[in-house]
Amino acid sequence: MQCKFAGCDSDPYEDQEYCILHLDLPGKGSELELIKDLKEKEVERKIESGDLNFKGAKFFDANFSGMHIPGDLILTQSTVLNDFHCLDSEIDGGIWFDQGTVAGHAIFESSLIRGSISFFKGKVGGNISFDHAQVDKYVWFEGVTVEGEASFNQCHLGGSISFNNATIDENISFYGSIIEGNAWFERAYLGGNTWFDLAEIKGALCFKDCKFKYIKSQEKACRSAKILWERLGDRGKADYHFYREMEAKRKQKSFLHRHLELIVQYPFGYGVRPLRLILTFLGIIMFFALVFWKIEDNYSPDTLMDKLRFSFLTMLIPAYGVINAKTGIYGWLTIFEAFIGAFTWPTFMVIFARKYMR
Ligand SMILES: [Zn+2]
Repeated sequence: MQCKFAGCDSDPYEDQEYCILHLDLPGKGSELELIKDLKEKEVERKIESGDLNFKGAKFFDANFSGMHIPGDLILTQSTVLNDFHCLDSEIDGGIWFDQGTVAGHAIFESSLIRGSISFFKGKVGGNISFDHAQVDKYVWFEGVTVEGEASFNQCHLGGSISFNNATIDENISFYGSIIEGNAWFERAYLGGNTWFDLAEIKGALCFKDCKFKYIKSQEKACRSAKILWERLGDRGKADYHFYREMEAKRKQKSFLHRHLELIVQYPFGYGVRPLRLILTFLGIIMFFALVFWKIEDNYSPDTLMDKLRFSFLTMLIPAYGVINAKTGIYGWLTIFEAFIGAFTWPTFMVIFARKYMR
C-alpha cells in the first residue's frame, strides 16, 4: 500500500489512505495535536534526509524559518491551514508554491532566496511579507489572491516581478526596495494604498488595465510608471500611464471641475490619443454640416456637400465661417463652430507633432 496522492511513494498513516503529509487535518482536540506533531516531525525528517518535495502536502503551520535549504523547495498545491513561516532562511534554489493555499499569513522576511519564487494562482488569507528579503531571480505572483497586505519593504529583487492578474485586497508597498528588472501589474486589482515611488525600479513598471480601488493610488502608481517609461524612451507606454494619472487627478477634483474636464479627457484624450481627436474633429464637422443642412431646408446632395465644405473650412479657418455666414441662428452656430475649431485644430497639430516628430 502506498499513499494515494499521485506521485507519493510514502506509506499511508496507520489505516488511512494517505501518508502523514498528505493526510487531512482533523477538526480539533487531542487528535489534531497528535497529527500536527507527526506532520512537523515528518517535515524535519524529510529536510534532514535532503528531500525537499512537499507537493500537495497539508500543513497546519508550516515553519521553514532559520533553515538552510540546499535546493528547490517544492510546495506546489500544498495547503497551510494557519501561517506559513520562512524567516531568516537561506534557500539555495527557488520556492515553488504554485496553486498553494495559505489561510493565514505568508512570511518570508529576511530570507535569502537564490532562485525564483513562484506563487502562480496561489491564495493567501492574510498578509504576505518579504520585508528585508533577497530574491535573486524572478518573483512570479501571477493570478495570486492576497486578502491582506503585500509588503516588499527593504527587499532586493534581482530579477523581474509579475503580479499580472493578481488581486491584492489591501496595501502594497515597496518601501526602500531595489528591483533590478521590471514590475508588471497588468489586469491586477489593487485594493489599498500603493507605494511604488519609494522603490528603485531599474526596469519598467506597468499598470495596463490594472484596477485601483483608491483613485489616489492610481494617480501615484501611474505617475511612477510614467516616469520610468519616459526614462526607458517608450513614449506609447508613458502616454498610457500619463492618461491614467490625469484621469485619476480629474476624479479627485470638485464636482464642477470633474465634469468640465471630461471634455479634455474624452474628446481630446489629454493630448495623447491622436485617433480619438481625429474622430472628434470629423464628428464635429459632420454634426455642424447636418445642422446647417437642416436650417437651409434644401435636402439635396449638392447642398449637403456644400455644407460639409463650409463646416470643414469653418473648423480649420475660424475667420472663414464667421465672415461668410449669414445672420441669425446660422451666424451664431458658425461662431460656435469656429470657436471649437480654434481649439481643436491647434491641439491636433500639437499632438501630431509630439507623437510623430522630433
Ligand atoms: Zn503522501
